[in-house]
Formats: sequence, structure tokens, C-alpha cells
Amino acid sequence: MNLSDLPVRRLPLTVRPLAEETVISFVTRLASANEIPAATLFRHLAPCHPGRRIIDMDAVLSLESLERLAVLSGRDTDALARTLPGQDHTPHTPLELGRPGLRWFRTHPRPQLACLLCTSRRGISDAVRVRVKDGRRVCRVHRRWTDGLQRDLAKMPEIIDAHARYRALLDGPRRLRAPTMVWKAQCIALNWSWERMHPVLSERWAVRARKLNIAFPYRGYDSPAAQCVVFPETVALAETLCHPDWRRHVAMVRDADLEHFYRYAFQAVGIPKASNRSPVQGDPITFWAGNLRAEHAKRRFDFWRDPLAAVLTRTPFPNIRHFA
Ligand SMILES: [Zn+2]
Repeated sequence: MNLSDLPVRRLPLTVRPLAEETVISFVTRLASANEIPAATLFRHLAPCHPGRRIIDMDAVLSLESLERLAVLSGRDTDALARTLPGQDHTPHTPLELGRPGLRWFRTHPRPQLACLLCTSRRGISDAVRVRVKDGRRVCRVHRRWTDGLQRDLAKMPEIIDAHARYRALLDGPRRLRAPTMVWKAQCIALNWSWERMHPVLSERWAVRARKLNIAFPYRGYDSPAAQCVVFPETVALAETLCHPDWRRHVAMVRDADLEHFYRYAFQAVGIPKASNRSPVQGDPITFWAGNLRAEHAKRRFDFWRDPLAAVLTRTPFPNIRHFA
């Protein structure tokens, strides 16, 4: 007989789920409050094999399991379904109807620790893992970086400002393209950091990393700490990579005129004019520009093939919507 076949009753101590909390985090906290192993509580919800690796995942429960969780936690079933984002997940193989069931799944992005100050204000001392759906990386109430590691940003106004611009980018007219461009900009900035391609930036990042108590540079794209250090430059660069005017410029101009774009992008991330040289060979920003130009190679070729365009530099480029 499975534990999930037994009737359940309310546990002596209950906990409140936080908005965006994973099912796994909530069940683990409930188990911890009642001093029972989390795996046992999971097995009371549905037949399952909770391993250690589930901490970085989320789970979706069948209605019967959700009702069992509601009884155990003394919460309302509908309220739990609304609060726990795991319940929005549609598994590839549907859960069986009419019986307890649970399916683990990986999330993108991975669950992160909720702001420790927000949770302690609510009297929670356990770690709470949440799934941030809107790309948020900072708790604005406590001015704290929360994505992958937690750091006080009270003395880091440039990161707070960059986060406001980042939110505007994700919610603004370029929102479809913005997440990819933020990721590309971050790859470029991190690559600059470990190759030490721009001394001005390297110095600035070293100072920032010291203030944040972060070991830097870090070789790789997956360090949340390194991403925090280069965040203001990432956002400034992402704004440029998303901008339709600059996208059209990169896609359409002749090779020699790409300089304008590089100069603008370097200034946007705060490289002073004096050191605003052309990118060196292997600079990742040239790969980004090269890929965009390859995407529009035919349009560019057709435009410059027109003899008028070649002599009359005022011939307008194709409409911006092709590049936005
Ligand atoms: Zn907070």
C-alpha cells in the first residue's frame, strides 16, 4: 500500500505559501515545520521517488494530490492552485485523472531563493525557492540582488538603475526580442571580462566585484555572481542590440561603416571616447554583428546592387520593420 492511499488530516503546524513558491519548496517547509522528512510528506501526496536533485525543480500535482496537500497544510485548494506556479505546468504525459499523482519537471529559469529579507519579514527562517516569471533579478523593496546569489545593493545605484531599465526593456515594445538580446549582451560582457578586452571595463568590474564580495572574473556564462557584476553594461548593450535603428544600420551598411555601430556600443557601456577604438579581432561583438549581417545578406546585396544607391548615399534603407 502507498502512503498516498491513506487518509490525511491537518498537520499540527502549518506554513503559508509565498507567491511564486515552488511546490517542492512549500512541501519541504511544511515537512520541516512538523519535523517529518520531506520525502515522507511527498509520498503522502502521491506515489513518487523524491531524490536530492528535486530542490532545483518544481512539481505539478493532480487535483487529488493538491486536495491532500490542502488538507495537510490547512489551506484552501483553489488558493494553493493559484499561488503555486507548478500547477500551471502541463506535463508531456498527462497525470491520471481521479487519483493522486505528481510529476517533477525542470524549469527555466531555475528556481531561485526568495529575498531573505522579504522572507524574514514574514517570520520565515527556512529557505523559500520561487520561480520568477518576469525575469526579475532584484528585490526592489530591499534593494537586493536575488538571482542566484543575494547581495545588498544599497551602495550599488548603477545596478538598481540598470534593473529599472532592464524591466522597461522586457516590458516595452521590444519585449519579444529583449530576453534573447539580454542573454547575448551578457555573453558579450562576460567574454570581455575574462579576456580583459577593455581595460576600462576590467578596472570598473574589479572595483564593483570587490564591493559585492564576488570573485571575478569568472570564466563561463553560468555564474550568477559574474552576471551581477557585469549587469549594468549588459543592460546598456542589450538596449543597443535591440534598437531597430542600430539593427538596420548593422544589417545594411557597408563593412567600413560598421565603425559607427561599434563606437556607439562602446560608448553605451561607458568606454570613454579616447579609448573607443575599433573592436579587436575576436571581439564577441563583431560575431554578433556578423550574424545579423548574414541574416540580412540578400537584402543588403540587393540594395547596394542598385547603382543609384551606390552613388546617392541618401537613398533610404528598407523600412525599419524588417529589422525591429
Ligand atoms: Zn526583499
